[in-house]
Amino acid sequence: MLNLVFLGPPGAGKGTQAHRLAQRFAIPQLSTGDILRRAVAEGSPLGKQAKALMDAGKLVPDEVVNAIVDEALARPEARRGFLLDGYPRTVAQATALDEMLARRGRKLDYVVSLDVPVEVLVDRLSGRLTCPKDGSTYHPRTNPPKRPGLCDSDSTPLVQRPDDRPEAVRRRLAEYQNKTALLTDYYKPRGVLRTIEGVGTPEDVEGRIVSALRDNLTAGPANP
Ligand code: ADP
Ligand code: ADP
Repeated sequence: MLNLVFLGPPGAGKGTQAHRLAQRFAIPQLSTGDILRRAVAEGSPLGKQAKALMDAGKLVPDEVVNAIVDEALARPEARRGFLLDGYPRTVAQATALDEMLARRGRKLDYVVSLDVPVEVLVDRLSGRLTCPKDGSTYHPRTNPPKRPGLCDSDSTPLVQRPDDRPEAVRRRLAEYQNKTALLTDYYKPRGVLRTIEGVGTPEDVEGRIVSALRDNLTAGPANP
């Protein structure tokens, strides 16, 4: 069992690393951003509520994302563990997550905080290409798909997210500084926080994360 949260600013590599570790440990990646983008694409009531905020680079209300995560944690595949990517983003969400886990007799094992300088974030976000179907991300220079413009796993044409345009990127980085960055102070006293240098190839970063989690690796049945 591995219950893990990825923290870090937009572009830090949370989605990329959550995807890699989900395969390595055979536990689900729960990305609130991916779930919200799917809702927007489907035009569901949730999507309609979230779209304008997301496009502007603002956070969606806590109650909305808390409900999404509570539902995701209730699914059978999350029973053996999960990798939360993009949640929590506020102290109110972190408190809600603690309650959801306590209700299920569970707790967080690790909070992995990816540390990346702001100029690298801006470069990654301005080049990010996203698969609208499975949420995987690429970058033409640092993380190219096997065939230009197409998702490696399902050949879906890749798109630029509306919130990866410069204006929304600035807003998202500000939202991170104002509301999310202080979550490291929330988790530090509990001894679960692991700060990882997020610059380097995706393989390098994954290696650093796995070393930092080593204590836990003997616990789960899906460990390689
Ligand atoms: P986040 O989920 O934190 O916003 P992503 O995982 O989507 O970040 O990564 C942001 C962009 O940077 C994507 O284009 C991705 O392909 C690229 N990327 C991810 N990890 C690295 C890395 N270690 N080095 C270079 N580029 C990366
Ligand atoms: P990134 O990977 O670049 O950090 P995400 O895909 O995680 O971005 O999130 C995209 C957008 O979805 C956010 O800017 C916000 O509008 C919304 N969102 C995702 N997760 C949350 C959350 N936990 N709380 C509030 N809004 C969220």
